[in-house]
Amino acid sequence: MTKKTQSSKPYILTILDFMFFGIFIAFATFLINYTVHFENSSAELKRNAETITEIKKEQITTFISRIEQTLYSIEHSAILDNFIADPNDPTRKRILQELIRTVAIANTDFFQVRLLDTTGMEVIRIDKERNATKAHIVPDEALQDKHNRYYFKAAVQLPPNTYWHSRLDLNIEHGIIEQPLHPTYRVALPIYRQDALYALLIVNVDMRSFLMTLWSHTTFNTYLVDKEGYYIHHHNMNLSWSRYTGTERTLFDDFPEYAPKIMKQDVFNNEKIYSFGLEKQFDNGEMIKMILEPKYEFIEQQSEHIYQLVLYLALLTLAISLPMGGIFAIGPARLQVKLNNLLKENSKYIDIIDQYVVTSETDLQGKITKVSTAFCDLSGYEKEELLGANHRILNSGKTSPEVYTELWNTITEGSVWTGELLDRKKDGSSYWVKTTILPEYNNENRITCYTSVSYDITDRKKIEALSRLDPLTNLGNRAMLDEEMKNELERVARYSSNLSIIMLDIDFFKHINDTYGHLTGDAVLQKIAALLKNGIRKTDKVGRWGGEEFLILCPETTLEYAEVLAENLRKQIEAVDFGIAGDQTASFGLSSYQESDTADTILTRADNALYKAKEEGRNRVVLAGHLPSTSS
Ligand code: GH3
Ligand code: MG
Ligand code: MG
Repeated sequence: MTKKTQSSKPYILTILDFMFFGIFIAFATFLINYTVHFENSSAELKRNAETITEIKKEQITTFISRIEQTLYSIEHSAILDNFIADPNDPTRKRILQELIRTVAIANTDFFQVRLLDTTGMEVIRIDKERNATKAHIVPDEALQDKHNRYYFKAAVQLPPNTYWHSRLDLNIEHGIIEQPLHPTYRVALPIYRQDALYALLIVNVDMRSFLMTLWSHTTFNTYLVDKEGYYIHHHNMNLSWSRYTGTERTLFDDFPEYAPKIMKQDVFNNEKIYSFGLEKQFDNGEMIKMILEPKYEFIEQQSEHIYQLVLYLALLTLAISLPMGGIFAIGPARLQVKLNNLLKENSKYIDIIDQYVVTSETDLQGKITKVSTAFCDLSGYEKEELLGANHRILNSGKTSPEVYTELWNTITEGSVWTGELLDRKKDGSSYWVKTTILPEYNNENRITCYTSVSYDITDRKKIEALSRLDPLTNLGNRAMLDEEMKNELERVARYSSNLSIIMLDIDFFKHINDTYGHLTGDAVLQKIAALLKNGIRKTDKVGRWGGEEFLILCPETTLEYAEVLAENLRKQIEAVDFGIAGDQTASFGLSSYQESDTADTILTRADNALYKAKEEGRNRVVLAGHLPSTSS
C-alpha cells in the first residue's frame, strides 16, 4: 500500500507539471493575443486619424476656395467694370447690387457681402438673415463707415489678387458677442483698377454648419485651437470659443503633457492623441490646430471586445492543453517512476560498494581523488586524510620496487594491472591486497584517472606462509623449497648465472631417537636448523627437505664457493654441544646448475654426492661430478 502511494507521487507530479505547462501556454497565448490585438487596434486608430486628417484638410480647402472663387468672380465681372466706369449711375449700381445679392443667396452660409471704398465707407452692402434665403440690399442712407474696423485696416493693405482671411471668431455686433454664438469667418479681396486700389470686397461667412460637419465624429473627440491654445472648438461645447467666452481654458489645461508638442509640431501623434496644423487651410495667422482624441467609450468598447476575444482564446487553449497535458504526461510520468526506482536501486548498490569494496581513484600523478568507506576502514585512515594525498602514503616499503615500476608502466600505457601489494596501515602494520588498477578514459580517448579495486588477502597470505613452513624447525618446508627451486632455476636459466645447492643429512640420527627418545631428536633437529639459518647468507634459502635432511639453495654461487660454505657448516655442527645427545655430525652433497638442468636432475646429483659422503665415512662434503662435457 505504501509502495503504491510512494511511486504514484512522482507520477502525479509529472502530470501536474505538464498541466501547469498547459496553463502557462494558455496564459502566454492570452498575453500575446491581447498585446497583438491591442497594437492592431491602436494602429487602426492611427490610420483612421490619418485618413480623417486628410479628409478634414480637403474639406476646409474646398470650403475656403469656394469663398475665394466667389469673390474672384465678382471682381472679374463686367458688371463691376460697368459700375466702376460710372459709379454714380444708379442703374449700374443697382445691377451690381443685384449681382452681389444673387451671390449671397446662392451661398447659403454668406450672411453679409459688402463693397467698401478705399476710405472704409460701405458702398454696397447685402445683408441676409441667418438661415434665410432672402437677402436684402441695405439702403444707401444706412451704409456705415468701417475705416476703424480691423478687417478694413488689414485688407486695405493687400496687394492685387490676394485674399485676406479673418480670425475664426464670433460675430460681434456693437461690441457684444452675438447670441446664440455665431462663428464667423471673413474673407476680403482688394479690387485694383489702373494699378490702384479701388475698393474692397468683403464677405462674412456663417461658419456654424461647416464647423459642425468639420468636428463631428463618432470615433474621435475633436478640438480646434488657436496659436495660444485657446479653444475655438471643444467637444464639450461649453468650453468652445474660450478666448471670447471668458472660460480662459486652453489646451494646456486638458493635455498639459502633450500641449507644448502639439503647439510646436505640424503633426503630433501617439496612441492617445493626434494633431495636425491647419494654417495652410485657414490662412489667417491663427495657426489653427485640429486635435483628434479617441473617444473614451470607443477605446473602452474596443478593449472590452479584445479582452473577451482573447479570453475565449485562452480558455480554449486551456481546455485543450489541460487534458492533453495530462495525456501526454502519462508516458514521461511512468518513465519518471521507473527512473526513480532505478535510481533508488542504484544508490543502494553504490552504498554497498562503498561499504564493502575497497576502491579508490587517483589522478595521473597518483594523487587520491576518491576513496570508498571500505578503503578507509582497511587502511585505517580517515577519508579527509586520504583525499589529496599521494597513493604512496600506503607504501610499506616491503613491496619490491620492480612491482611498482611494472605497475606504472602497465597503467600509463593504458592497460589494466593486477597484482599483489603489501601496503601499510595508518598504525604502521602491514596488509596484503590483491589490486586491479584500471585507467579511465575521456571522450578524446585520453586517460583521465585510475580506478583501483582491491581486496584484502592478508589472511590468505598468512595461511600460504604457514603451509610453506615446517612447524618443528620454523624453516621452510619441502613445498617452499620446491617453489624456490623452481624460481631459482628460471632465474638462472634467464640470466645464465650460477646456482649451487647443498643437501645435508644428519649422521646416525636414528640412533638419537632410539637412545634418547624422539623429543631429544626433535631438539637436535631444531638446533641444527637454527645453526643452518644463521650460517648462510641473506640471499641463500634453507628448508627442511624431509626427516633429518636439509636443503640449501645458494643463488649466484659457484660449486667451489658452495663447498666453502658447506665445509663451514659441517664444522659448526661438529663443534656444537647438543647436550645429552652428544656430538653430532652431518654429511653434505653439493651440486651446481648445468645447462638444461631441471629440479630433478640437479637434486639427484646432490643426492648422489650425499650418498657418496655417507659411503665414504660421513661428516664430509662431497661435490657432485660435472657432466662429461663440462668436467675435465
Ligand atoms: P645415516 O647416517 O645413514 O643417515 O643413518 P640415520 O640413522 O641417520 O638414517 P635413517 O634414515 O636410518 O634414520 C633416519 C631417522 O630419522 C629415522 C626417523 O625415525 C628419524 N626421524 C625422521 N624425522 C624425525 C623427526 O621429526 N623427529 C625425530 N625425533 N626423528 C625423526
Ligand atoms: Mg636420512
Ligand atoms: Mg641420517
